[in-house]
Amino acid sequence: MSRPPVLIAGAGIAGLTAAIALARAGVEALLVERRPGFTEVGAGLQLSPNASSVLHRLGLAPAVARHAVAPRRLDIRSWDKPRSFAGMPMQEAAEPDGAPFWCLRRADLQTALLDQARMMHGIRLMVGRRIVALTQDGRDIAVTVETERGSSETLQASALIGADGIWSDVRRLLGDAGQPAFTGHEAWRTLIPADAAAEFAHMPAVNLWLGRQGHAVHYPVAAGRFINLVLIRKGGPAREGWTREGDRSEVQAMLAGAAKPLKALGAAAEGWQVWSLFDRPAAAMAKGRAALIGDAAHPVLPFLAQGAALAIEDAGLLAALLAPALAAAQEGAIEAALGRFATLRRQRAARVQETARSNGRIYHAGFPLAVARDLVLRRLGDEGMRKRYGWLYGWRMDAS
Ligand code: FAD
Repeated sequence: MSRPPVLIAGAGIAGLTAAIALARAGVEALLVERRPGFTEVGAGLQLSPNASSVLHRLGLAPAVARHAVAPRRLDIRSWDKPRSFAGMPMQEAAEPDGAPFWCLRRADLQTALLDQARMMHGIRLMVGRRIVALTQDGRDIAVTVETERGSSETLQASALIGADGIWSDVRRLLGDAGQPAFTGHEAWRTLIPADAAAEFAHMPAVNLWLGRQGHAVHYPVAAGRFINLVLIRKGGPAREGWTREGDRSEVQAMLAGAAKPLKALGAAAEGWQVWSLFDRPAAAMAKGRAALIGDAAHPVLPFLAQGAALAIEDAGLLAALLAPALAAAQEGAIEAALGRFATLRRQRAARVQETARSNGRIYHAGFPLAVARDLVLRRLGDEGMRKRYGWLYGWRMDAS
């Protein structure tokens, strides 16, 4: 009798990468996505070498690199001063194997993953269905999926991967009663056509501007055709979900005291999408034949640019551990593989989450802490900064 597929809840970056990694290892995956179709959400993403190295192993690097920009530097500036006072070389962070740092449009990454998934025999995609219930007995897992109109069916799976984002239903169904908490921050995101943006924004660099009420990040994406600009500010009402439209007059107010080049870049943007930022502790990550990956397991505040990167790390490692366990067909092998996955991931995920939270506090520090912060960053220099993040960008699947 053939074994049922691995069911993956959610076809975001985590779910699609996991399906591709499993299919490459000869495991059938059934991706169940709540949305009825795939619209382009989000603006830009940085993908660091810890994640690009996984995409490389999965044969996805050429499709992704085609749309990416490889930033040479991170340049850090004060909110009101155009001169960079600290930073880090970015491609050198890719040691020991030369895996690149990439800046990408989120939609380009999503499309590359989706195209690949659709081409692979081992992957089936069901859209417009939400996971609403699951039961685990000694053998398989039974997962109930429901359409928006309320019709439902129950599917058998060898294992279940919850890749259904920060508001994860799978996490709740596995017994985690917690809820994401609003952080008091909003992210305003836009994509500016490169020919509408001043020359300095075209440079292959990630630019970080630090202010008391928030910070800004911008970098070129889509092989240089757009500039991704994100403004993080304190305040705003908490809104669950991906996005709402932002008002340009609010952006003007946010950038009132900013340095001229940043102000001009913000003024060149046409439309803004706003995210309320939520946080949540890392989950247990595995229970029986179910595991959680990506934001479902450990959402990361965007102050370290690591949420998607961790999701890709999770997906690659989980598939590498789960595929041999499924092939072994021994009692308890799947549970053991998922348990090992959770043990390997939880500490790293919690450290990444905490570093992102701490960056938020440091980035928005007021006087006199901000003066001390700038002094430390300046003293660290390029080499010191690179070493500081060695543990993060130097992660590789083999070394786990
Ligand atoms: P999601 O993208 O949320 O996907 C979950 C999917 O599950 C969705 O398609 C959803 O429709 C589906 N779903 C939900 N419930 C169900 C259900 N019950 N059944 C079936 N399907 C379901 N990360 C980086 O690495 N680098 C960056 O530079 C970066 N910048 C960011 C900037 C901002 C402003 C923000 C907000 C985030 C940023 N991130 C970044 C984080 C990154 O976007 C997320 O961590 C990443 O998208 C999480 O992917 P995911 O697949 O785990 O979850």
